[in-house]
Amino acid sequence: NPETPADILKQRESLAIFSVKEKLLAKIHAHNSCIIIGETASGKTTQLPQFLHEGGFSRQGTIVVTQPRRVAAVSVATRVAQEVGTELGQLVGYTVRFQDVTSPATKIKYMTDGMLLREALGDHLLKRYSVIVLDEAHERTIHTDVLFGVVKKAQRVRLKRQLPPLKVIVMSATMNVDKFSNYFNKAPVLYLEGRQYHVEVLHSMEPQTDYLFAALVTVFQIHKREPPKSDILVFLTGQEEIEAMVHTINDIAKGMPATCPRLIVHPLYASLPSQQQLRVFQPTPDGCRKVIVSTNIAETSITIRGVKFVVDTGMVKAKTFSAISGLDLLKVQRISKAQAWQRTGRAGRQSAGISYRLYTQQEYRNFLDDTIPEIQRCNLASIVLQLLALGVKNPASFDFMDKPSGESMKCAFTELQLLQAVEGAGEAVCLTDLGRQMASFPLDPKLAKVIMASKDLGCAEEILSVVALLSVDSILFTPQQKIEDAQAIRRKFVSSEGDHITYLNIFRAFRGLPEHDKHKWCYENYVHYRNLNTACNIRQQLRDLCLRANIPLKSCGQDMTSVRKCLTKGLFLNAAELQREGTYITLGPVKHKATFHPSSSLFGCKPAYVLYSEIVQTTRCFLRTAFVIEPEWLYETAPNYFRQSKGANR
Ligand code: ADP
Ligand code: MG
Repeated sequence: NPETPADILKQRESLAIFSVKEKLLAKIHAHNSCIIIGETASGKTTQLPQFLHEGGFSRQGTIVVTQPRRVAAVSVATRVAQEVGTELGQLVGYTVRFQDVTSPATKIKYMTDGMLLREALGDHLLKRYSVIVLDEAHERTIHTDVLFGVVKKAQRVRLKRQLPPLKVIVMSATMNVDKFSNYFNKAPVLYLEGRQYHVEVLHSMEPQTDYLFAALVTVFQIHKREPPKSDILVFLTGQEEIEAMVHTINDIAKGMPATCPRLIVHPLYASLPSQQQLRVFQPTPDGCRKVIVSTNIAETSITIRGVKFVVDTGMVKAKTFSAISGLDLLKVQRISKAQAWQRTGRAGRQSAGISYRLYTQQEYRNFLDDTIPEIQRCNLASIVLQLLALGVKNPASFDFMDKPSGESMKCAFTELQLLQAVEGAGEAVCLTDLGRQMASFPLDPKLAKVIMASKDLGCAEEILSVVALLSVDSILFTPQQKIEDAQAIRRKFVSSEGDHITYLNIFRAFRGLPEHDKHKWCYENYVHYRNLNTACNIRQQLRDLCLRANIPLKSCGQDMTSVRKCLTKGLFLNAAELQREGTYITLGPVKHKATFHPSSSLFGCKPAYVLYSEIVQTTRCFLRTAFVIEPEWLYETAPNYFRQSKGANR
């Protein structure tokens, strides 16, 4: 690492937050809750926790800082450990789902918001912590939103019971703050002055039909014209798109004249392993140019120095929820104006920059002003289950900053009822024993139910693998130029029963290999080594939870019918029925018309009924991961929901 301790100190002292350290600490001493607003890269996430530690706030408990994203929790903890000069997991550590890098010595702990919420299930008052910093509050993720209410209550109860007080600090990029201040009993708001250079904003003259192509062209226009070391940040929507773009840029770069700077291209997305994420922070060598191709992670969570050009496609992949159908749809959609400005701002951190917006001014005017809080656009079943497990009697009346709609609440209850996780109605609703056990799994209730059901069906061994595989990003690795190769080589794994079984086949083959052959095997078979490896780790942890829940680890051998039946026990709400013309219609009150995604094992097949675990909408609706079922299974699983008529249609 080229950075010396003196370099690090100099960098720390140059941050906006450094000059107001004493003022901040005094304010935090004087108030139970504070709100800190500052431009991205002003030093909030990395510095404030260190200030708090130095200021003695960790004497009576740990300082915890939540992050909406796993990447941010890991990379920031790594950075801060480096800054304080200790090994990660000692004074500074992190906890994310399925990974805990902390020790009794840990005083500064970065955590995903979901994990802190999970911890609150075991300790409603969060007694281990002296300070809770809720970071990136402007993102309004569902977990952060629920944590607002949870920490507010913990704070109040601790005060009443004369327990050590709990400080709550809410941090955010620039935004409208009155709402936060009011919610936290008129907490004082502290502003940090960030350094921001001028950024020129250029809009497309014409609407772009292919934003990927437009992004590619823009990157090379910049590259041909600009001197080395002025780096480019490109915003795309997801892993596959990003990997493909990285590949294409690298390919084209090979044909560039030798006079052009050398291109160093980095992908950046949530599920990228931390080792690779940290690479994006490495300074650009002389004579080179760095291109970072990222999801909206680089909007605020992560700051990469040296970026001078932003290429903004104006797109983001986000969940949208239809309360009527109960469906979470992962949808590529337009960003909000607030997001557009965050992206633009990334070009002006170290010098003046340019933001290339691949949308017209007119299109921009039609963007929403602000991003809609996740709680108002997501399936709430998981949150309602957790609130009930937290002892909240009536989740509908929980102290939400922005209330979710009555419909989506009702929809969540219906789903949990159908999953047999809750009983009773209205204010008398409560968890069943099954529901309580389901809440102990860090999984979507549907998948938790699948695991619980594997007990009776005697296929926990297989189900644990499938659920672990569904918890990681795609295990298939399909470079754009080699789609046919990849598919031909993977054909031996493909099951006519569907993707879930195909994944299981790949996973079984992978786990059967000696450790030193795995890398090569994955490369040759066009599957993702690291995602498979992550799935192994997740499986291990689910296995422990299973044993605790008294689920025996039985295998059903080679007959996959039990596996599909078992999956049906949790995923039955995601059914789709074949139509005459070869497309599928989702069952339930709202009919989505969909076809199999080209990457699905069932692409080109026409089973009468399928269940899917992922539906994506791009230009059309695609069932991405699906498996074949018998319609009777739907009826057997939820007789009140599916009428037994011709087929299973309601
Ligand atoms: P904020 O939370 O206000 O957005 P941060 O504390 O995240 O600011 O970042 C402050 C500075 O630290 C940024 O300039 C960023 O580039 C730098 N930084 C953060 N993480 C790393 C890292 N892993 N490696 C190198 N520099 C980092
Ligand atoms: Mg931050």
